[in-house]
This record gives sequence, C-alpha cells and structure tokens, in this order.
Amino acid sequence: MISNNYKLTKTKILSGLQCHKKLWYDFHQQISKDNHSIHIGNRFGEEVKKKYQVGYGKFKDFTGPFDSTKVKDTEEAINSDNINVIFEGAFIYLDTLIRADVLIRKKNGWELLEAKSSTKLKSEYIEDIAIQSFIVKKCGVNLTSIKLIHINKDFIYEGGDNYEDLINDTNDITSKVILKEKEVSSYIKDLIPLAVEKKSPNISMGDHCNNPHTCDYQSRCKAIEPKTNITSYEILPWCPKKLKKYCLEKKIKDLQKVPTDLLVSQREGYVQDYHKIIQAAHKCNKPWFSPDLKNAIKEFNFPYYFMDFEYVNQGVPIIKGTQPYYRLPFQWSVHKWESIDKKIKPSDEKPFLEFDDQDIERRFVESLLKAVGENGTIFAHNAGPVEISILKKLKEKDNCKHLVDKIDKLIERTVDTQVLVGENFYHPKMNGKYKLKEIIKAIPSDVSYEEKDNIAGGTEAQLAWFILTDNKTLKNEKELQKKLLTDYCAKDTLALYYLVKHLMDSYV
Ligand code: SF4
Repeated sequence: MISNNYKLTKTKILSGLQCHKKLWYDFHQQISKDNHSIHIGNRFGEEVKKKYQVGYGKFKDFTGPFDSTKVKDTEEAINSDNINVIFEGAFIYLDTLIRADVLIRKKNGWELLEAKSSTKLKSEYIEDIAIQSFIVKKCGVNLTSIKLIHINKDFIYEGGDNYEDLINDTNDITSKVILKEKEVSSYIKDLIPLAVEKKSPNISMGDHCNNPHTCDYQSRCKAIEPKTNITSYEILPWCPKKLKKYCLEKKIKDLQKVPTDLLVSQREGYVQDYHKIIQAAHKCNKPWFSPDLKNAIKEFNFPYYFMDFEYVNQGVPIIKGTQPYYRLPFQWSVHKWESIDKKIKPSDEKPFLEFDDQDIERRFVESLLKAVGENGTIFAHNAGPVEISILKKLKEKDNCKHLVDKIDKLIERTVDTQVLVGENFYHPKMNGKYKLKEIIKAIPSDVSYEEKDNIAGGTEAQLAWFILTDNKTLKNEKELQKKLLTDYCAKDTLALYYLVKHLMDSYV
C-alpha cells in the first residue's frame, strides 16, 4: 500500500546532516526565507522542463506543492505504457518524501536527472542525489542511470528565448551515487526522532554553520549563545589556520590572550601587522588611525563622488549577450560632495535603476559617466572586486566599446574605501569586519542598515531583481521593491560620505 505520510524530505535530511539543531528548527520553528538562489533554481527548472518536454514522447508534470494524490499518480505514470518523462514525481519511503526532478523512460528502466543551478558538479551533490535515488529505487523503480544536469557556464544568451545550450547533461554520476546510497537508510533512522523531540539539541555554533550551506538560524543561535565580555580571536579577518590550531590546542578564546608574536599578518589592502593593530585597538578600546592617513587623503580632489553598484547573477540570462553567472549591473547610486564647506543630503542622490532593458549595460554606463563628470575623486567600497571589475567587463561589450576611454578615466579616479580603511583605520566596534555596514556602526552617521523589512545587502538586492523581473509579480510589489532598492543603494553612498568625512575629520 502506498503511504502518504512522511516526516522527512530531502531538504530536511540535508539540514540534519549539516547540524541536528538546524533540522530540529526545521521541524519545530522553521524560518522560510526567500533568496535569489531559489529564483535561479526555479528559472533553471523551467528551462529543464521545456527541454525534456520535447522529443521524448508523452510526459507527466507533478510540479507544485505536495498533496496526497501525487505519490499514487506518480506510481501510475511509472507503470503506464505511454508516459516517457515524469517531472517532480513524488516518492515516499521510510517516512521520507522526495520529488525527483526528471525521470526518463529507458529501454530497461528509468534514468534519473537531478537539476542544480550551479555550473559544475560539486561533491555535496552526490550525497543529495543519493537520497533521491535510494528512495526512488525503494519505491520499486528500476533506475538504470543517474545524471546531474547543471548550467553550462559558457552559454551566451542570444535572445529569442533560445536556451537550447543552457543545460549541461553530460555528468553521469551513477556509480558515485550508488556508493553513497548505502548510507541513506541509517541517517534517515538517526534523524527521524528529532521530529518528535521536545527540546532542541545542545549544539554550539562553529564552522558547520556555514558549511556546506549558510544556516538561516544563525541570528537565533547567536542570541542564545552564552554571553561573554571577551572578544574572541575568531574576529580576526583571514585568521591563519596555524593560529586557529594553536588557539584550539591551548584552549584560548580571548584575543588578548593570543601571544602578540603569533599575530603575523600581511595581506594586500591591509596595513602590515593589522592583526596586531586589531588586538591593540580592542585592548585599549580605542580606534586606530594610521600616521599615513593624512597623506592618503591629500591625494583626493574635490568634488568627491560616492558611488555604489548593484548587480545580479541571472543564472538563466534574460539580457542578450550575457552569460549565466556574469555580473549584470542594474543599479547605481552616486552622491556628490562639492567641497569641504558644503554638506550633502540623502535627497542629493543621483540614481539609475533598470532590470530587463536589452540595452541596460550601455544605459547604465552612459548615465554613470554623466553623473560623475570628468573631475574629482570617486569613492566606492570594495571597488576592486565589484565596481572596477564590472566596469572592466563593460569595456568588452560591443554596445559599450565607444566608451572605453571614458570608462578607463573613471576607473583611474576611483578609490577603494575598503583598502583605504584596511590600510589606515580600525575601530573596535568593527569587530574585525571591514564591510561598510560594519564600519558605519563605528563612526558618527545618520545611516542604519537595521531598519525592518529593508534591503540590507547585495544578495537581497539580487532577490529584488528576480522579483522585479518575474511576470507574476504584482504592480504594487514591484513598486515597493523599486523603492527599497533605491533607498538601499543611496544609503551605501551616503555611508561612504560619512566614512570619508570621518577619516578627514580625524586629523583636522
Ligand atoms: S546556526 Fe549553526 S548551530 Fe545553529 S542551527 Fe544553524 S548550523 Fe546549527
């Protein structure tokens, strides 16, 4: 008899394999957070379906929320003579529900295709897919082969809804998955009791909170961690393995107990021995300013421009000439500071915000060049990996070729404030972090990223792009997302103003 009852799903098992407490939260106090990766996965899933709906014969599509008919209907499709492709078939075994992305009828059985929106096979997928294949087989399906299908990183969208070459389906992982299937029943049996466990397991935070996935329960777990007045050595950015090992062996947690001679740190974009500087700043609870800061600031020329970009990794590109994980810039914000005696206001912001215009890149850069004029220093935080890198890519685009010289001049004028801070400033309130959102907590400003329901980071801005380019999104929701994006990007450029002003004020 077919069972419709289940406690676990593949996602829950993967939670449990990462951390039992995470699974316990999934069972009893779940947070379900939307994020841009889910949207990439959904869009890729749609393309996968389009591909296998054609040329394989009749198909059945069980996509949609689980209901009690789906297991039986899937079984009927498997046993029928005329269904050759099944999407999102539902299977339950050992109280565990899985949905198989694609099943294709073969001569002596079925082929299982599991879709991932990455651009390559990752080792953690084998465990993930082994759960699927184990359950499908235990439900009586003869699986003759198992494949991972993922995004072809070299795909270039040429328009016209043509995604024929987007999917890479060359990874036959049958033998690797079979080896892992053997472990599945034992960890299912191990995890199921957590469904009825009244108390959450007593597990402290650690490296597992971000490996293999960033756990959504981190703020909850942080809130219940024992309070301490000590500052951990773990705040040190790029903390060397050797130092971590030493601290673990000696059971040292307190940054102040780490011998100073072990804090040897050298990294591009940071002052020599910045770990020692961090330790000293926390010891005396005072900010540190480099003696070279004054000279660094002397190099800057008014008017100052504060610039910030938002970009999206589309996954399934919708802009002609772009690739799946090319960083498509869709928003910039610029604040201009005319001179030292003038103040700037949030309303002085110049914005650009577009989503799916096929000429978005040219429009983006042309309007930006206008906004920053031809003279003056331009500041952007983490500019090297983001703003400058995006501008360099835009130079290669056919529709931006005529702007190459101007883009080069813009790049020459750009100062990376993360490097400026890394080499010249540290405040204990930064807690070892050099992101603008952390620095702003340590300096006088009117900017806060902690307001409820706001966009608070680049990944949320990417999510907004997906919501705005989704045909199903209602007009009101689109208007709201546009406003949130505009506020967010303007906040970053205003924060940059406060940062540069603070550094200048420090030596006046
Ligand atoms: S934050 Fe860490 S300890 Fe807490 S549930 Fe997630 S993985 Fe487990």
